[in-house]
Amino acid sequence: MDDLSDWLSYNDEFDILICIPCGVVIMPGKSGGVDGHLEFTHHSKAEKFPLSTSSRRKLSQLHRGRILNSMPQTPGPDSNPVPHLPVLEGLYCLDCPYICRALATMERHARSEHKWSSKSSLHSVCQQLISNA
Ligand SMILES: [Zn+2]
Ligand SMILES: [Zn+2]
Repeated sequence: MDDLSDWLSYNDEFDILICIPCGVVIMPGKSGGVDGHLEFTHHSKAEKFPLSTSSRRKLSQLHRGRILNSMPQTPGPDSNPVPHLPVLEGLYCLDCPYICRALATMERHARSEHKWSSKSSLHSVCQQLISNA
């Protein structure tokens, strides 16, 4: 993977930057955006996909204008899979476009966003999402 253009992919449909070898969306803010991801995950001694300091610098310069300022929009259950991202089984909220993978995360979402309180009603809040992998 010497070609640096194979590392990060910008998706303008969702306004997200994807790390191709990791298969993850680079999150803005706390985790430090591009620089944070490269430094933390792809430092020169990383077990998987290490990058030299100069390559990291080049990549971060390449994508400097694309560092996200807000959390990206989550693709809804009906949208096509985003290229480079693994399609995973997950849950989606029936009341809003929220999707997540873990039941506990969905419970937290339902509780805070939809005033959901009882476990028995969780099925009306979310539904299992099996993506077309
Ligand atoms: Zn990565
Ligand atoms: Zn919701």
